[in-house]
Amino acid sequence: MIIAITCVIAIVVLVFVLGVRPKDLPEPEPVSPFVHLDERKAAIYENLRDLQFEYRLGKLSDNDYQLTKRDLQKELAAVLAEVDKVKLTLQSGRPPAAPSAKSKAPVAPAPSDNHTCPHCNATFEQELKFCGECGKPMKAVRA
Ligand SMILES: [Zn+2]
Repeated sequence: MIIAITCVIAIVVLVFVLGVRPKDLPEPEPVSPFVHLDERKAAIYENLRDLQFEYRLGKLSDNDYQLTKRDLQKELAAVLAEVDKVKLTLQSGRPPAAPSAKSKAPVAPAPSDNHTCPHCNATFEQELKFCGECGKPMKAVRA
Protein backbone atom coordinates (compact mmCIF):
# COMPACT_ATOMS: atom_id res chain seq x y z
CA MET A 1 0.00 0.00 0.00
CA ILE A 2 2.78 2.42 0.96
CA ILE A 3 4.60 1.51 -2.24
CA ALA A 4 1.50 2.23 -4.28
CA ILE A 5 1.02 5.59 -2.62
CA THR A 6 4.70 6.43 -3.13
CA CYS A 7 4.41 5.50 -6.78
CA VAL A 8 1.34 7.68 -7.25
CA ILE A 9 3.06 10.60 -5.53
CA ALA A 10 6.15 10.09 -7.66
CA ILE A 11 4.10 10.04 -10.85
CA VAL A 12 2.14 13.11 -9.82
CA VAL A 13 5.36 14.96 -8.99
CA LEU A 14 6.91 13.86 -12.26
CA VAL A 15 3.91 14.99 -14.30
CA PHE A 16 3.85 18.24 -12.39
CA VAL A 17 7.53 18.90 -12.95
CA LEU A 18 7.44 17.97 -16.61
CA GLY A 19 4.27 19.96 -17.19
CA VAL A 20 5.52 23.09 -15.43
CA ARG A 21 9.16 23.14 -16.44
CA PRO A 22 8.89 24.28 -20.08
CA LYS A 23 6.82 27.29 -19.08
CA ASP A 24 8.60 28.34 -15.90
CA LEU A 25 12.17 27.75 -17.04
CA PRO A 26 12.40 28.65 -20.72
CA GLU A 27 16.20 28.59 -20.61
CA PRO A 28 18.94 28.17 -18.01
CA GLU A 29 19.97 31.35 -16.26
CA PRO A 30 22.82 32.85 -18.29
CA VAL A 31 24.38 34.50 -15.27
CA SER A 32 24.79 31.41 -13.09
CA PRO A 33 27.99 29.94 -14.61
CA PHE A 34 29.79 33.25 -14.16
CA VAL A 35 28.59 33.64 -10.60
CA HIS A 36 29.76 30.14 -9.85
CA LEU A 37 33.17 30.72 -11.46
CA ASP A 38 33.54 34.11 -9.83
CA GLU A 39 32.98 32.50 -6.46
CA ARG A 40 35.66 29.91 -7.19
CA LYS A 41 38.03 32.58 -8.39
CA ALA A 42 37.44 34.63 -5.24
CA ALA A 43 38.02 31.56 -3.09
CA ILE A 44 41.33 30.84 -4.81
CA TYR A 45 42.46 34.44 -4.41
CA GLU A 46 41.59 34.23 -0.75
CA ASN A 47 43.55 31.02 -0.40
CA LEU A 48 46.53 32.65 -2.06
CA ARG A 49 46.30 35.57 0.34
CA ASP A 50 46.08 33.25 3.34
CA LEU A 51 48.97 31.22 2.03
CA GLN A 52 51.14 34.27 1.64
CA PHE A 53 50.15 35.45 5.11
CA GLU A 54 51.06 32.13 6.71
CA TYR A 55 54.29 32.00 4.78
CA ARG A 56 55.25 35.44 6.08
CA LEU A 57 54.48 34.31 9.60
CA GLY A 58 56.89 31.44 9.09
CA LYS A 59 54.21 28.75 9.40
CA LEU A 60 55.10 27.26 6.03
CA SER A 61 58.34 26.00 4.62
CA ASP A 62 59.61 27.48 1.39
CA ASN A 63 58.87 24.26 -0.41
CA ASP A 64 55.33 23.95 0.93
CA TYR A 65 54.62 27.52 0.03
CA GLN A 66 55.86 27.15 -3.54
CA LEU A 67 54.02 23.88 -4.08
CA THR A 68 50.71 25.14 -2.72
CA LYS A 69 51.04 28.39 -4.58
CA ARG A 70 51.65 26.55 -7.82
CA ASP A 71 48.62 24.37 -7.24
CA LEU A 72 46.42 27.36 -6.52
CA GLN A 73 47.69 29.20 -9.56
CA LYS A 74 47.04 26.16 -11.70
CA GLU A 75 43.53 26.02 -10.32
CA LEU A 76 43.10 29.72 -10.95
CA ALA A 77 44.24 29.31 -14.55
CA ALA A 78 41.72 26.51 -14.99
CA VAL A 79 38.92 28.68 -13.64
CA LEU A 80 39.93 31.58 -15.88
CA ALA A 81 40.04 29.24 -18.88
CA GLU A 82 36.57 28.04 -17.97
CA VAL A 83 35.34 31.63 -17.80
CA ASP A 84 36.67 32.19 -21.31
CA LYS A 85 35.02 28.98 -22.48
CA VAL A 86 31.67 30.00 -21.01
CA LYS A 87 31.99 33.41 -22.64
CA LEU A 88 32.73 31.79 -25.99
CA THR A 89 29.78 29.43 -25.62
CA LEU A 90 27.49 32.31 -24.82
CA GLN A 91 28.79 34.25 -27.79
CA SER A 92 28.47 31.34 -30.21
CA GLY A 93 24.81 31.04 -29.21
CA ARG A 94 24.17 34.35 -30.91
CA PRO A 95 23.90 35.05 -34.65
CA PRO A 96 27.04 33.86 -36.48
CA ALA A 97 28.03 37.28 -37.84
CA ALA A 98 28.25 38.97 -34.45
CA PRO A 99 31.03 37.04 -32.65
CA SER A 100 33.69 37.31 -35.34
CA ALA A 101 33.23 41.04 -35.75
CA LYS A 102 32.99 41.47 -32.00
CA SER A 103 35.98 39.36 -31.02
CA LYS A 104 38.21 41.05 -33.56
CA ALA A 105 37.59 44.62 -32.47
CA PRO A 106 38.76 44.57 -28.83
CA VAL A 107 41.61 42.10 -29.25
CA ALA A 108 43.50 43.94 -32.00
CA PRO A 109 43.19 47.72 -31.53
CA ALA A 110 44.63 48.70 -34.88
CA PRO A 111 48.33 47.90 -34.46
CA SER A 112 49.28 48.69 -38.04
CA ASP A 113 48.74 52.45 -38.15
CA ASN A 114 50.45 55.33 -36.35
CA HIS A 115 49.39 54.20 -32.88
CA THR A 116 52.24 51.74 -32.43
CA CYS A 117 55.87 52.73 -32.73
CA PRO A 118 57.71 50.46 -35.19
CA HIS A 119 60.99 51.12 -33.40
CA CYS A 120 60.21 50.53 -29.73
CA ASN A 121 56.66 49.08 -29.95
CA ALA A 122 55.18 51.68 -27.63
CA THR A 123 51.46 52.18 -28.20
CA PHE A 124 49.55 55.43 -27.92
CA GLU A 125 45.89 56.38 -27.64
CA GLN A 126 46.03 58.80 -30.55
CA GLU A 127 47.81 59.04 -33.83
CA LEU A 128 51.31 60.52 -33.54
CA LYS A 129 53.89 61.58 -36.07
CA PHE A 130 56.77 60.93 -33.72
CA CYS A 131 57.00 58.35 -30.96
CA GLY A 132 56.51 59.72 -27.47
CA GLU A 133 58.90 57.08 -26.13
CA CYS A 134 61.90 57.08 -28.44
CA GLY A 135 61.19 60.18 -30.56
CA LYS A 136 61.58 58.37 -33.87
CA PRO A 137 59.03 58.82 -36.67
CA MET A 138 56.02 56.57 -36.09
CA LYS A 139 55.49 55.75 -39.74
CA ALA A 140 58.00 54.62 -42.28
CA VAL A 141 58.50 57.45 -44.78
CA ARG A 142 57.21 56.52 -48.19
CA ALA A 143 58.77 57.92 -51.35
ZN1 LIG B 1 59.35 54.45 -30.24
